Amino acid sequence: MSPDPLAREAPEDRATLMCGHIDLHLHTTASDGSLTPTELVGEAAARGLTLLGVTDHDTTEGVEEAVAAGRGYGLRVIPGVELAADSATRDIHLLGYFIKWEDPDLQSALAQLREQREVRNARILRKLQDLHLPVDMARLKAISGSGSMGRPHIAAAMVEAGHAASQSEAFRRYLGRGRSAFVSRARLKPEEACRIIAAAGGLAVLAHAAKVGSWEVIRQVVAGGAAGLEVFHSDHSPEEVASLLSLARDQSLLVTGGTDSHGPRSDRPTPIGSVEIPAWVGEAFLARAPEWWRERFSP
Ligand code: AMP
Ligand code: ZN
Ligand code: FE
Ligand code: FE
Repeated sequence: MSPDPLAREAPEDRATLMCGHIDLHLHTTASDGSLTPTELVGEAAARGLTLLGVTDHDTTEGVEEAVAAGRGYGLRVIPGVELAADSATRDIHLLGYFIKWEDPDLQSALAQLREQREVRNARILRKLQDLHLPVDMARLKAISGSGSMGRPHIAAAMVEAGHAASQSEAFRRYLGRGRSAFVSRARLKPEEACRIIAAAGGLAVLAHAAKVGSWEVIRQVVAGGAAGLEVFHSDHSPEEVASLLSLARDQSLLVTGGTDSHGPRSDRPTPIGSVEIPAWVGEAFLARAPEWWRERFSP
């Protein structure tokens, strides 16, 4: 019988920090999540989590508040971000962990990405207008709040205006890749995304790696500087998890996992902490924590 890949031991040569129940992929109202950082951390604490990665799209706006809330609950927060990188046919997302979020170069790179989002969003709205599906900018701004605005906010505004029955329908009919109101935005190459993360002292991890759908592309992203793969994810099947684990082992890659939860009011309300992640994953991950983070966050 072949050994159970999930039962693999943590690498023994690394100092281990104790780690409990974890979720390393979470969105807040700083981007397209529905919980504020404080609400998210409260919810995570109520579910017994002890280590969180806050990974909003193109912004670290929620990190400071999450870290402060984490202190109150005795729960550690890893400063993170999620960057979308370009591939001709699919979305390649890179998670950045242990980033020095105050880093001015990081902040100017993120500001530029958010600017490109704004340009893209405006073009989507024009396309929707042409399709006779107008979306009110004031409503859209009210929905997205001060955070990094994205297609889920546009989808929510479309549902509110009666243009679609659900956000998924809005994506399926209009906003998804190749649909009538789709606009691609200027995107980073995977290696550029990895470089931005590494320059801020962070570790780049290929998000929802099974959704990439191509071993070739996964290998390219690794060659471009990704230090790890998000193996455990709410959209991954057990078979995908097993294949990714064996790739990670072959290539000595870091393994991470998270729900990618966007909160209870989102279209796909995956509960925080609902992806089962073996303890060795958190331990091996924490073994890579930089000194400054350990000093700042160790209990
Ligand atoms: P954006 O970053 O603005 O391009 O929007 C991408 C985000 O939209 C993703 O990170 C998901 O949160 C969400 N999303 C993508 N596809 C769908 C879909 N089919 N249904 C609902 N949400 C989606
Ligand atoms: Zn999102
Ligand atoms: Fe993603
Ligand atoms: Fe995500």
